Amino acid sequence: MPPKPKLSLYWAASCGGCEIAVVNLHEKILALEAAFDFMFCPCLLDTKKKDVEALPDRGIAVTFFNGAIRTEENREMARLMRRKSQLLIAFGACAYEGCIPALANLATREEIVASVYLSNPSTHNPSGLTPQPETHTPEGTLHLPMLLERVSTLAQEVEVDYFIPGCPPEPHQIWSVIDLLIQGKPLPPKGSVVGAGRSSVCDECKRKKDDKKIRKFYRTYEIVPDREKCLLEQGIVCMGIATRDGCGALCPQVNMPCTGCYGPPEGADDQGAAMVGALGSILDLGDTAGLTEADLIQRIDAIIEPIPDCAGTFYKYSLAHSILRGLAV
Ligand code: SF4
Repeated sequence: MPPKPKLSLYWAASCGGCEIAVVNLHEKILALEAAFDFMFCPCLLDTKKKDVEALPDRGIAVTFFNGAIRTEENREMARLMRRKSQLLIAFGACAYEGCIPALANLATREEIVASVYLSNPSTHNPSGLTPQPETHTPEGTLHLPMLLERVSTLAQEVEVDYFIPGCPPEPHQIWSVIDLLIQGKPLPPKGSVVGAGRSSVCDECKRKKDDKKIRKFYRTYEIVPDREKCLLEQGIVCMGIATRDGCGALCPQVNMPCTGCYGPPEGADDQGAAMVGALGSILDLGDTAGLTEADLIQRIDAIIEPIPDCAGTFYKYSLAHSILRGLAV
């Protein structure tokens, strides 16, 4: 029997939820295992980096790479997996858009290190030690990969063939991509987002939509929303309007707003800007006749004041992938 094509799943700067999403394929994992030699996945298998290095270039048929590029090690592994893989898939929101790790781009690397190791109230570090790239011990020199200046998406580091969005991707969507690969069916053009829809979460959300006019925003704990009506129309910031569909509108189904984990819909490059633009068109400012620009700004500020953290809300998953990318450095 000819050897099975090799498949790998690598984990860079991420939480591990993408691996759990793969486990959530349940019995379909058996079909995956039957079709592929699942040979590299550091959190599940004992294969080592040197085993991957020993493979010929493009020796792995498909790599699902989850996690953003935060450290020198993430960068080195992204380059290695690119070289060794025929298809490199950015798997999940961190690899695709930076996700939560990329919110660190709102601070400098030095501020992050100082906050974590020096000034955090729960940190006891009287000698002010911070991580060093090399530590000499009697047994030898220990090397620690350093934080890069800012968090990047996988595609900002290496060429990526396909993108699967989601935090984490939904198992039925992961399976739709794996099934394509197993069946050997034609793949969409390189660079496509796969395992998701092209429209917005609002299009697959079953809540009743009416004329959207918002006078006041609420945090989710402040009101018990009507279970039938659109959450955004009730003043809860629901990102469904600026988020790619494909998850089945799972969060609105359970009375929670979409937080945007599938990234922007097809054709919208910057999810935060799309959301701000959408909100700008539905704020109910009342009678504005005779108001000065300063009055208008005051009214807008009063309406959006309950939104606690605009950058963290509108760019929770997509800051590294956005036009801003973070603080100018
Ligand atoms: Fe559903 Fe949210 Fe869109 Fe309203 S804004 S229709 S609740 S996804």
